[in-house]
Amino acid sequence: AARRHTPNSYQFYSAQMNAQLQERLTLESHLSRALERNELQLHYQPRIESHSGKIVSVEALLRWNSRELGAISPAKFIPIAEANGLIVPIGEWVLRTACTQHRLWQQAGLPPLRMAVNLSARQLAQPNLVERITSILEETQIQPQDLELEVTESLMMDNVQQSILKLQQFREMGIKLALDDFGTGYSSLNYLRSFPIDTLKIDRSFIRDVVSNAHNAAVTNAIITLAKSLRLNITAEGVETAEQCEYIKAQGCHEIQGYYFSPPLPKEAMTELLAKQTVTSVAKC
Ligand code: C2E
Ligand code: MG
Ligand code: MG
Ligand code: MG
Repeated sequence: AARRHTPNSYQFYSAQMNAQLQERLTLESHLSRALERNELQLHYQPRIESHSGKIVSVEALLRWNSRELGAISPAKFIPIAEANGLIVPIGEWVLRTACTQHRLWQQAGLPPLRMAVNLSARQLAQPNLVERITSILEETQIQPQDLELEVTESLMMDNVQQSILKLQQFREMGIKLALDDFGTGYSSLNYLRSFPIDTLKIDRSFIRDVVSNAHNAAVTNAIITLAKSLRLNITAEGVETAEQCEYIKAQGCHEIQGYYFSPPLPKEAMTELLAKQTVTSVAKC
C-alpha cells in the first residue's frame, strides 16, 4: 500500500521487504545445517482415549533450537523447509527418530501406543516415500499399525489421484492415516469419501469456542456426524479446558489431544508420563 504514495514510503516498503527476505535467508541457511548440528528435537504430545482415559497415542512434534537464533517456532520454519525441500531429509529424520523412540518405549515395557507423525506435501510427492518408510519400519522394528501418518486436506488436494494412490499403499501396509486440521482446508467433502483414511482430526480452531460459540459447536457436531457416517475415528486437537473436554466427549469423539491433558513434552518427560499411566489413569473428565 505504501508503494502508491511518495518515493519515501516506497523506500520504506522495500526496506521492509528486504528485512523480511533477509530474515528468511538467515533462517534458511541456519536450517540447512540444523540436522548435522543436532539442533532438531522431537517433542511428544499424548492423545487420550475418551472412554478409558488412557494414553493411546502420541504425536511427534518437531522443535528447532538454533545455536545462534534460539528456539524457532515450527509455524515459522516448517513452511520454509517445505518451500526449499529441506523438509524431505528433515522429515525422514523425524520418522526415524519417532519410530526409534516408539521402539525404546515398547522395549521398556510401557503400554502399547501409536506414534503419529506429520507428513508434508513435499514428502508425499517423493517417488520413493513408500520404500523409505518401509525401510524405516524394518530398521526400527516397529509394527506398521503402530505408525499413524497425519496429512492435511490441502496436501491431499495438491495431486489428488497420486496422493490417494500413495495413501492406499500405506494402508495396505497396515499404517494408520489421519486427516489433520480438518475443516480448515478445502473441505472437499466429495473427495473425503475416496481418501483412504482412518481418522479425522478436528482442527483446534473449532474446539476453541465450542462451549461458548454456537457456530463452532454446530460445525464441530457436523464434522463428528460426518465422520461417524463414514465410519472414521474422530480426534479433537487443542482441547484446553474441562468444559471443552466434556463437550467433545459427549459428542462421541474417540481421542482427545490438548493442553488440558498435556502440552508436547521432551522425550524424558513423556517417558515419565507413560510410566505413570501404568498405575494411574490420566483421565480427568
Ligand atoms: P499440527 O500437526 O496440527 O499439531 C498440533 C499443534 O497444536 C502443535 O503445534 C501443538 O503444540 C499445538 N497444540 C496442541 N494442543 C494444543 C492446545 O491445547 N492449545 C493450543 N493452542 N495448541 C495446542 P506445533 O508443535 O507448534 O506444530 C505446529 C504445526 O507444525 C503442526 O500442526 C504441524 O502441521 C507442523 N509440524 C510439527 N512437526 C512437524 C513435523 O515433524 N513434520 C511436518 N511436516 N510438520 C510438522
Ligand atoms: Mg498433526
Ligand atoms: Mg492438527
Ligand atoms: Mg494444526
